[in-house]
Amino acid sequence: MRAVVFETPGVDNLRIVDVETPRPGPNEVLIRVKYAGVNPVDYFTINRKDVKPIPHIPGSEFAGIVETVGSSVRSVDVGDEVVIYNRLFDGSCKYCLIGHEELCVNSGLIGVVTQGGFAEYAVVPASNVIRIPKGVGLDEAATLPVGALTAWHMIFNRAGVSPGELVVVFGATGNVGSYAVQFAKLAGATVVAVSRRADKVKDVLMGLGADYVVTPDEAQSLINELSNGLGADLVIDAVGQATWNLSFKLVARYGRWVTAGALTGGDVTLNLPSLYSREIAVIGSTGGTRSELIKLLDLLSRRRIKAPIYSKMKLEKVREAFDAMFRGEDRVGKVLLMP
Ligand SMILES: [Zn+2]
Repeated sequence: MRAVVFETPGVDNLRIVDVETPRPGPNEVLIRVKYAGVNPVDYFTINRKDVKPIPHIPGSEFAGIVETVGSSVRSVDVGDEVVIYNRLFDGSCKYCLIGHEELCVNSGLIGVVTQGGFAEYAVVPASNVIRIPKGVGLDEAATLPVGALTAWHMIFNRAGVSPGELVVVFGATGNVGSYAVQFAKLAGATVVAVSRRADKVKDVLMGLGADYVVTPDEAQSLINELSNGLGADLVIDAVGQATWNLSFKLVARYGRWVTAGALTGGDVTLNLPSLYSREIAVIGSTGGTRSELIKLLDLLSRRRIKAPIYSKMKLEKVREAFDAMFRGEDRVGKVLLMP
C-alpha cells in the first residue's frame, strides 16, 4: 500500500512509499482509508524525535471502509463505513470505568503511538471503530475525531455552556474553534468569534453561528458593550501564550476560562488574586468520549451541525496540506487528505 512516512523529524522529510499492508489481529479492523484530517497533532508528531514505530505513518483522524475484520470482531462488518475514535484506552482503569476513556491511564493516540491514517490502509482496535450513520459523508465524518470532538467535550462536558451566556472563542477559524463556535450557538449562547483576519472570515464564521466576528484588538470593547462592562461568562482559548493575557482579562466575575490546546505555546503567567477575587474557574479539557463522537455523528446525520471542509488533497500533496492548515487565518474548516 502507499503511505506517507517519515524517518527523521520534519514535514520536509515526509515521503510517499510503498509499504506492506498491515493485517488486523483478532480484535482489530483493517480500514481502507478514504479521508484523513490534517491537524496540529500530526504536525507535532512529525516533529517529535522519539516517535515509534519508525518509519512512522502519521494521521490521527480518518474515516473509510472496513476491508477485513479480526476473528473476534463482532461490532462491525466488511464494507461498513466507519470513522475512528483516536484515543487508545484499556477499558479497565478507573477513568474508563466511569466512561471517560479520554483520561485513560494507559492511553495514546492512534497515529502518534501507532501507525496512522495517512495511508491507503490502517489497522485499529475494533473498540476504536464507530459506524457512520446514513446521510453522513465519509469526508464529513473524517472531520470529527479531533477538532469537533474536542470542542464538544470542552463546551458541554467541561465548561457546561447555558442558554443566554456570553461566550468568546479565540482561534475561531481553527479545527477546534470552528466547531466551538457552532456548539456554543447550539447551546443557546451569544457567540463572539475572535480572529486576526476577522474581515476575511466574517461571513463563514457567521454561517457557523457566530453573532459577532472581531479581531483581538476589538474584542475588549465589544465584550464591554455586550456585558455592561462585566465580561464574558466563558472564554474558550486554544491559541495559548499569544492570546492568554487578553483572553483571561475578558472573563467576567464567576466566569470560566477553558482550553484544550496551546498552539502558540503553553507557558503563561497567572496572577492568583485576579483569579480568586473574581471567582474564576480555569478549566482543562482534552479530546472527548466515544459516546460524544456517536452523538456528533447523529447530529450531523440530522443536519443539526455542519462539517466545514476547506480543501481535499491527494496523499502526494501532504506537505501542501500542512501549509494549507497553517495558513490559518484565511482558512475555516478542515484540510483532508485522500489516500
Ligand atoms: Zn483506561
